[in-house]
Amino acid sequence: MATTVEQRRHLATAIPGPRSQALQSRKLAAVSAGVGTGMPVYVERAGGGILVDVDGNQLIDFGSGIAVTTVGASAPRVVEAVKRQVEDFTHTCFMVTPYEEYVAVCEKLALLTPGDHKKRSALFNSGAEAVENAVKVARVFTGRTAVVAFDHAYHGRTNLTMALTAKSMPYKHGFGPFAGEVYRAPMAYPYRWTGDRERTAEEAFEAFATQVHAQVGEQNVAAVIIEPIQGEGGFIVPPAGWLRRVAQWCREHGILLIADEIQTGFCRTGEWFACDHEGVVPDLITTAKGIAGGLPLAAVTGRAEVMDAVHAGGLGGTYGGNPIACAAALAAMETMEVDDLRGRARAIEKLFLGRLQQLAEKFDVIGDIRGRGAMLAIELVKGRGDTTPNPELTAALNKYCHAHGLVTLTCGTYGNVFRFLPPLSISDELLSEGLDILEQAFVANA
Ligand SMILES: *Cc1c(COP(=O)(O)O)cnc(C)c1O
Repeated sequence: MATTVEQRRHLATAIPGPRSQALQSRKLAAVSAGVGTGMPVYVERAGGGILVDVDGNQLIDFGSGIAVTTVGASAPRVVEAVKRQVEDFTHTCFMVTPYEEYVAVCEKLALLTPGDHKKRSALFNSGAEAVENAVKVARVFTGRTAVVAFDHAYHGRTNLTMALTAKSMPYKHGFGPFAGEVYRAPMAYPYRWTGDRERTAEEAFEAFATQVHAQVGEQNVAAVIIEPIQGEGGFIVPPAGWLRRVAQWCREHGILLIADEIQTGFCRTGEWFACDHEGVVPDLITTAKGIAGGLPLAAVTGRAEVMDAVHAGGLGGTYGGNPIACAAALAAMETMEVDDLRGRARAIEKLFLGRLQQLAEKFDVIGDIRGRGAMLAIELVKGRGDTTPNPELTAALNKYCHAHGLVTLTCGTYGNVFRFLPPLSISDELLSEGLDILEQAFVANA
């Protein structure tokens, strides 16, 4: 890995150090309290699997800035492409005078996303914006208004995407009223779903289909939106066959399936997209996060006749598909292909699962281990057969890891899921060292 950031954990001060603390005081005085920081260390440089803070601490990164820096935070090809593009031009607005990079990203998305049908894409700035636009497209194409989302879903923080998101605190609390014609259906959540695991996929599908039929009516539904593996809701992996069953039901009823692959996309799960594991081809797919090596970019990609149903001028935005972000995306996707980051994600899964299973044998508070590729999690419970969520332990483990130079993230509707999203540019040595710290966190909190 050609990076200027030394690939070694190093603690120069307590975490956070004095410079970070001083910056945090300035933050409190200048930045809205509504914008939280999970770990208040201020970063100066980052790359490979290491973040370097302003006090000279070198931290192991198990978060990738929430699944964004999949290729690393200073991936050489991305750095070069961005430098070149900034020198050429920074912006023209694609809706005014277009440029090749935007078109090239859309061509690449057509090749990489599931299915070999004719596709079109439109580019935006954030995941939430992509989700909003996917819903706009689905409504125009179907002439219907209702959208069905799932329990534990996360789709963003704008008004429509808050309505689609399930969890109240902190995402929705006090921010209503929310956009209308959004309906919630039960999710297939194997760990917390009672019954025979073999039959779970069919049972979960029946619960979903029965509820949508009774409470919405299939003929009113424009789209079902689903994260193939739920992200913020707790890295929930539905049982095999469930997503395919939902996709089939959508087809039977003229309903579009929107796969929100904003967190799962671009090699994160060991395939280009999480839908690939199930052989599911969605009508529309939303992408963002890992797409551009840290630059803000998002996309809606879908069947040509669906995407082209929108009137000219109906989609767009001042910055959508900014040339610098597009240049970064092309370089990030090239890196994923050339460096075989799908293979790297699968290798990371293997390394993690071995260690996590050993941990689960020692600590019965680990109720479930799940995920795919470099998108893995443990669900923490009270232990000894008691599956009551344990958010207190989750927070304590997180705190321990942070204090010991490991950047970790939690998630889950019940705040009891500890998740792992390392950059795919991280070394095995740093992964093992990070897992050692996690094990020490369990010992310290046993
Ligand atoms: C992060 C995320 C979003 C929102 O993306 P933003 O870029 O933060 O607006 C939407 N859906 C999923 C699945 C996400 O993980």
